[in-house]
Amino acid sequence: MIFKQKKVERQVSLKKDALDGILSYCKMKHPNECILILKGKSKNRHIVIDSLVIPPFSETGPTFAGFPSSFLPLDFSYVGIVHSHPAGSAEPSLEDLNNFFGLVSLIVKSPYEDEDVFAWDREGNSVKLTII
Ligand SMILES: [Zn+2]
Repeated sequence: MIFKQKKVERQVSLKKDALDGILSYCKMKHPNECILILKGKSKNRHIVIDSLVIPPFSETGPTFAGFPSSFLPLDFSYVGIVHSHPAGSAEPSLEDLNNFFGLVSLIVKSPYEDEDVFAWDREGNSVKLTII
């Protein structure tokens, strides 16, 4: 007997309201990076992001954005983080992957329009992103 393992592709859905919030926050913080926590739910490898949280004690500059995750309450509705790349591509840097938080990482590149948002998993693989 052959068992075929069905591979369920990971995917991310982002609510339009949350997308608009992310884009305007990125534009406001430009030329510095910005960072936000993504709230939502995850079921069967499908992550739905519906709201945003500004992390406490966040530090940002032109090439970094971070926050001490030890200050975060343990909250299972936190599915990941989004941060901006004011210059360059939307590919995650080695540092981004080392500081991965949650299930998914969104990166927004300048000029922060709808098509400038990309989703990545912990290994740095591209994840399908749909705006809902
Ligand atoms: Zn980055």
